[in-house]
Amino acid sequence: MNIEINVKTVLYALLGCPLGHSLSVHMYNAAFEHMGLNKIYFLTEVKPEDLGVAIEGMKKLHFGGGNVTIPNKVEIMKYLDEISEEARLIGAVNVFKIENGKSKGSNTDGSGFFRSFEKDAGTTADGKVFFVNGAGGASRAVTVEAVLRGAQKVYICNRTVAKAEALANDINTKIRPCAIPLPREREKIAAAMEDTDVVINTTSIGMYPRVDDLSLDVSLLNPNIIVCDVIYNPERTKLIQEAEKLGCKTVTGVNMFICQGVESFKIWTDMDPPIDIMGNVVRAALAK
Ligand code: NAP
Repeated sequence: MNIEINVKTVLYALLGCPLGHSLSVHMYNAAFEHMGLNKIYFLTEVKPEDLGVAIEGMKKLHFGGGNVTIPNKVEIMKYLDEISEEARLIGAVNVFKIENGKSKGSNTDGSGFFRSFEKDAGTTADGKVFFVNGAGGASRAVTVEAVLRGAQKVYICNRTVAKAEALANDINTKIRPCAIPLPREREKIAAAMEDTDVVINTTSIGMYPRVDDLSLDVSLLNPNIIVCDVIYNPERTKLIQEAEKLGCKTVTGVNMFICQGVESFKIWTDMDPPIDIMGNVVRAALAK
């Protein structure tokens, strides 16, 4: 990294706890450096109970914003001056901007996912039927975004069916009635697959180190279904590998990760970052 730090340097930070190895820090700093921007991104561990003080301090210092990760994505909402409509519907914030002493939170996980989806699958969400596996934070982001972008129907399938029901209820009452909660039962999943266009795994099944775990019975898929996984480590999960064998188009979580970073960068700077450079840095960091 070759960024000169001086009194005008604008700071950005990832707020989470605990923070281990992060792909974000390399990705953003490479983009700032490439574009010659006097900005720097770093990592700082902040516990949920300290978020209010942290945000107030950042507003007084030379911060332009930051990202938020586990366990702070929901808790931070109460300390921000403004929250985007999309983040409010999702119920979580993953990025915030500080400008003129005010903080505004947004969520780029869903928009990042669809930026990568449109590029890799060569189509849009409009009119499609989605089968979303999982009902946690990533599911909320991609499911809400799919509906905002015109999805015809979304099946939400989760081990804890009450969470699928709660998310479906939020969508049906706050956006439009098109969400159907499902238990993780083979017959119910098979019936849903009859009219599904796009499958998205948002569970952590198949994530490193349990890379041989399969999040869905692939015998229920067919080659016309676009298969997506939000997991980025490994890039080609077992689900993605099996779907490719069937001839399905696929979308990986690495591209979603890069694209949510692109969307965050645009929120902070109003500029388009060098997506190829960000991608190369992320893939190099993952390869280590
Ligand atoms: P989360 O809120 O904890 O949700 C986890 C989901 O996985 C829940 O639906 C959970 O079901 C399900 N699950 C976990 N283990 C399971 C098992 N053994 N069997 C069945 N279901 C299981 O986590 P999250 O924040 O949504 O993250 C989920 C994944 O998305 C992680 O791998 C994360 O790295 C990835 N992610 C990627 C990006 C990206 O940019 N590519 C962004 C965000 C997240 P229950 O509700 O029943 O527990």
